[in-house]
Amino acid sequence: MPDMLINGRWTAGKTTERITVINPATEEVLSDVPRGTAADADAAVAAARDAFDGWRRTPANERATLLHEVARLVHNNAAELARLLTMEEGKPLPENEEELEWTATTFHYYAELGRHERGRVLPPGDPGQFNFVIKEPYGVVACIVPWNYPLLLLAWKVAPALAAGNTVVIKPSEYTPLTTLRLAELAFAHLPPGVVNVVTGYGAEAGEPLVRHPDVPVIAFTGSVATGQRIASIAAPMMKKLHLELGGKDPMVIGPDVDLDMAVRALAYSALLNTGQVCTSTERVYVPRDSYSQFAEELAGFVSGLRLGNGLNEGVDIGPMLRDPFRQKVERHIADATARGAQVLVGGSRPSHFEHGFFLEPAVLVNVDHSMAIMREETFGPAIPLMPYGDFDEAIRLCNDSQFGLGACLLSHDARLVKRFFEDVKAGTIWINDPLTDNYAGPFGGMKMTGGGRELGQEGLDEFLEVKHVHWDIDGGVKEYWYPY
Ligand code: NAD
Repeated sequence: MPDMLINGRWTAGKTTERITVINPATEEVLSDVPRGTAADADAAVAAARDAFDGWRRTPANERATLLHEVARLVHNNAAELARLLTMEEGKPLPENEEELEWTATTFHYYAELGRHERGRVLPPGDPGQFNFVIKEPYGVVACIVPWNYPLLLLAWKVAPALAAGNTVVIKPSEYTPLTTLRLAELAFAHLPPGVVNVVTGYGAEAGEPLVRHPDVPVIAFTGSVATGQRIASIAAPMMKKLHLELGGKDPMVIGPDVDLDMAVRALAYSALLNTGQVCTSTERVYVPRDSYSQFAEELAGFVSGLRLGNGLNEGVDIGPMLRDPFRQKVERHIADATARGAQVLVGGSRPSHFEHGFFLEPAVLVNVDHSMAIMREETFGPAIPLMPYGDFDEAIRLCNDSQFGLGACLLSHDARLVKRFFEDVKAGTIWINDPLTDNYAGPFGGMKMTGGGRELGQEGLDEFLEVKHVHWDIDGGVKEYWYPY
């Protein structure tokens, strides 16, 4: 039974209650973790605060060596961690093997970026003066993480925060704490005590005390819009730095010139990866009116051939959803769409051959429009709604008709359409012909209701650094513009 990590020690904390963690494919109990409280959050923040001064003064080269070691340990233990992640989160093993490699590489990337530079020198206003900008760590960063990519989204926060010289308290999702705790055991033990702490528990009980804590100046949060709004409402009056990565409703436009086979494969991947439970999942699709019926038919045929099952089994394409309430939300969106005139070509039902697990057959819907929840709200599951468009202006207008602005994808080889798309679509990431591929050096994040935080790249490091301008008059004599006039 894993415990929390506070100040380099494993502890059940001040609580005797535990949270049960289950496998979404079998509904079997995997283990349990402490149901952390405000007192545990306080203890973790105190440890991180005490460790901060030593960590921020550790030379960046030494910090880099320690972070490269984290990456090496993640890499060496990837097989075990990937299996555990499939057991608690559900996605197929190959997807988790990738998540582990991306996690390791994030630590390598920020190990190097963190020692690259720490500010800039400015031209002085007068000779004899020296002006420079220093970027400094804030202090204790609360890293509040969702369940869909528990390790990757942890790494996108923890690696840059540590590289910048901050210390952290991680609050994993109550659904997926096991891999986080095991990662901490395997890959963080060589760091000084208190630099990384992990508090488990429910958001309101263990997460919110971190948000309220006066010694936590930065909240790095990935999760739903509703939780982001709640966190913002608490943190804003305290003038905390907020780093918010919230929900999405990403569009994909099938260009008029594109090969339909390629489009079917690209779309199925970007809509159904992790059973559609990716913040950047394609959740609405715009298809040229001329090829709409043929494309829908080909997509339905391809999707119905994908294999559902326990992600530990070989050859499984699509795992279960995380829990039944998330599955019910997808079902509600499909029901709302069909009540308003949409048609389900394939899927949308619970497969009868599984006795346990939160499985849902991936659905393809046609005759949808923007009056339907499935085209407006985040569905976060295996449903692909297809809508026809006339000219490209209409496709762009439909893409931008959303409260969200996380990612957007165009499939096309027409450079004029590509330019139009990346200039006119309001989204934090634009993918052309290769949806959902991240680049460590490229910032990831959203616009509009998705929140403005950026992870990865230099921007992802800057989120954890505050800026100080130093004006130094080296000669230091009396100035003629001082009193008396
Ligand atoms: P969630 O908002 O329910 O929970 C996220 C985390 O916040 C969990 O650790 C939870 O315990 C904690 N939490 C909940 N209430 C809290 C509170 N009052 N104070 C502090 N912490 C609290 O989200 P989820 O269901 O875990 O994740 C799915 C959501 O995450 C989707 O909306 C998805 O789009 C979004 N997401 C966004 C990105 C991105 O980069 N933009 C990436 C992945 C997931």
